[in-house]
Amino acid sequence: MDCLFCKMIKGEIPVDKVFENESVLGFRDIHPQAKDHFLFISKLHTENINHLTDTHTEQLGEVFSAIKLFSENNDLAGDGFRVVTNMGKNGGQTVFHTHFHVLGGEPLGRFGR
Ligand code: 5GP
Ligand code: ZN
Repeated sequence: MDCLFCKMIKGEIPVDKVFENESVLGFRDIHPQAKDHFLFISKLHTENINHLTDTHTEQLGEVFSAIKLFSENNDLAGDGFRVVTNMGKNGGQTVFHTHFHVLGGEPLGRFGR
């Protein structure tokens, strides 16, 4: 499968890794949109959040547990952060492996166009 993030998981493309356990990978976004900008992904490939089904409940929980743990261990949780997932064309999705942007390190603007 020709998926950029799956290649990162397999170690075929280098990443600036910030978190890894048996089910989740976290790494720095190559084009940061905030002082701190990380991407958290499950090691199991799905295209985006609307491809998640009841069978992926555990997978989703593992990603959010990883984000919680990472934020608490890296000075993000205290001042807060934002989690964003883009889905499809209007959502601005460009990589089709479900991922969660973790943004923080500074106050963020509101959502918008
Ligand atoms: P999306 O646009 O699908 O919501 O998010 C994809 C994200 O992946 C973008 O923020 C983009 O900067 C990031 N990205 C794309 N290619 C690479 C890469 O090769 N390395 C890293 N670390 N991030 C990437
Ligand atoms: Zn993938």
